[in-house]
Amino acid sequence: MKYYSTNHVAPDVTLQEAVVKGLAPDKGLYMPERIKTLPASFFEHIEEMTFQQIACTVADAFFGEDIEADTLQQIVCDTLSFETPLVPVSENIYSLELFHGPTSAFKDVGARFMARLLGYFIRKQGTRDVNVLVATSGDTGSAVANGFLGVEGIHVYVLYPKGLVSEIQEKQFTTLGQNITAVEVEGTFDDCQRLVKSAFLDEQLNAHMKLTSANSINVARFLPQAFYYFNAYAQWKRMKHQGSLVCCVPSGNFGNITAGFFAHRMGLPIKRFIAANNRNDIFYKYLQTGKYEPRASVATLANAMDVGDPSNFARVLDLYGHSHEAICKLISGATYTDDEIRATLRQVYETYGYLLDPHGTCGYRALSEGLKPGEEGFFLETAHPAKFKGNVEAIIGSEVAIPATLQAFMTGKKQSVPMTSKFEDFKAFLLEN
Ligand SMILES: *Cc1c(COP(=O)(O)O)cnc(C)c1O
Repeated sequence: MKYYSTNHVAPDVTLQEAVVKGLAPDKGLYMPERIKTLPASFFEHIEEMTFQQIACTVADAFFGEDIEADTLQQIVCDTLSFETPLVPVSENIYSLELFHGPTSAFKDVGARFMARLLGYFIRKQGTRDVNVLVATSGDTGSAVANGFLGVEGIHVYVLYPKGLVSEIQEKQFTTLGQNITAVEVEGTFDDCQRLVKSAFLDEQLNAHMKLTSANSINVARFLPQAFYYFNAYAQWKRMKHQGSLVCCVPSGNFGNITAGFFAHRMGLPIKRFIAANNRNDIFYKYLQTGKYEPRASVATLANAMDVGDPSNFARVLDLYGHSHEAICKLISGATYTDDEIRATLRQVYETYGYLLDPHGTCGYRALSEGLKPGEEGFFLETAHPAKFKGNVEAIIGSEVAIPATLQAFMTGKKQSVPMTSKFEDFKAFLLEN
């Protein structure tokens, strides 16, 4: 399968090139030239399949032309070493819990898949060391660092905004050592993302070292996220539900929800989508006005969604032929302040005994306000609430237990490289390494 750039200037590439390059040389994002529709029989029997079986079918539609069947199956099964249960919260609302992986956030799925696919390509090609640059607003860094930890031939640099990630998040990528280097940037997530993008476009750096990205712009990270949308539908059917299903995704860089749009294009019967934003409401405003106006991000309780210029917006536009009308037909939006997040998190905990994290809270609220009579819906619970322990405890007024997988990270010693937000400084650091 060929991959084209959303800017349509750079030449088409193979899957391998798209994965290794990350960003296209014309600054566009890679898209597969075709999105295959899955047969009706697949959806008729999906509830009889395991998550891994479902994911193998979806992965074959994306990558089957480029990777041998048994290798692809191995990569999918290694990636999905955990479940994504669909849990009822209230009468017509379900939580798709995506936090049962090693770093307790949905990004484990894409990061684990990408690490294995990149490892496979490097082995096959026998290329020199590959350096993965990743900017994180919190959860990407840990998922990518843990997904790639110890993978031979790959070094990972995690760039994160100093003081803007939670203590647990920071521990998850600063304590690993081995092939993982944490870079603590004096700035915001957008600064980190800019440093990474500039590095990819810098000729001197690219001559010096082989660079690739593991942000949600990378096709190997964002496409596998489609797996769990199908798995949600399978579980919903297994509970004997039918009718109209709405999907709500707490969104920042829009990689997660874009994978949902791909699933929809492949035939998954989701009636419509809701994109839930925190106060960084660029996409919400786009839906209202038809104008896309990126802004500097502001810090919120749902920090992994603090994005002022969502990268995957280019893919959304491309997928719907740049038609604001087509986009509004399928997708609606919502935006919430920190006070609203606090109120809803507390209310859902007190009413239903279900503890949300601040990101999932935006998803729950947008769904509960957006569902129409006769509709049911699920939101993506994108992280475990214990990842935001301090904030969540302050909201509900009681202690949040930390799961054992997260607890293990807390004992390590933080190691990071201090960095300014100037590209020259970051470049000099990489050239020395
Ligand atoms: C990254 C992240 C998001 C936002 O996902 P995008 O794919 O960037 O839209 C939402 N919630 C959590 C917990 C995250 O880590």
